[in-house]
Amino acid sequence: MSDDKTPAKFRTFLILGAPGSGKGTQGKVLGSIPRFHHLACGDVFRSLDTRTSLGQKFVEFSSRGELVPDDLTVQLWRANIKQRVDSHQFKPEIDFLVLDGIPRNVEQAKYMEADIEVLKVFHLSCPDRTELARRLRKRALKDNRFDDANESVIQNRFATYEAETKPILDHYIGDRIVDIDASQSPAKVLYDIIGSIMTLEAWREQEKLRI
Ligand code: ADP
Repeated sequence: MSDDKTPAKFRTFLILGAPGSGKGTQGKVLGSIPRFHHLACGDVFRSLDTRTSLGQKFVEFSSRGELVPDDLTVQLWRANIKQRVDSHQFKPEIDFLVLDGIPRNVEQAKYMEADIEVLKVFHLSCPDRTELARRLRKRALKDNRFDDANESVIQNRFATYEAETKPILDHYIGDRIVDIDASQSPAKVLYDIIGSIMTLEAWREQEKLRI
């Protein structure tokens, strides 16, 4: 990052949850609010040309319900966020970053420590896997998501989430973690997230700027 107004690390909110918990929905809505910038790692992967070697790696791993290797993922993320900063889509000196889908394991969280200051981790919690699988099957039809269409891939993604992603909650342990009931309506989940953001000192500072 460059000039002196730019913070040393991106001020970041993480949205964490099992596949189908509504991370993308919440990320998109938050990202449409001025001074919030949303980045979904899955969308960055899906925008890759599948003829490139990275694009092929994405198809290979995601179609099995597995994570793309960490070094490739973090490199892609860094390149993508740099593009957004350089093109002034994301303005780190005045915008909060909302990340969904990354970091997706503790290793990625460690790699990204140099880049992001995590203000809050919104854990969209929904123990009812039947409800999540129902949402995924609905999304498979609507959004043409090949990784949502197959029952065994869905189950594997849940298992990957439990084994690799959930331990992130212990990594960021403390009052940064906010548990939110993801079985509520999208509007209520959003209300809970925004309510929590508004208690933050960083938010109050932002409000004073009146940009
Ligand atoms: P969902 O919202 O259902 O959890 P995503 O769109 O975030 O799904 O991700 C789809 C797939 O892309 C994942 O199953 C995984 O294979 C790959 N992927 C996305 N983000 C990451 C990441 N941070 N690390 C590794 N693989 C990832």
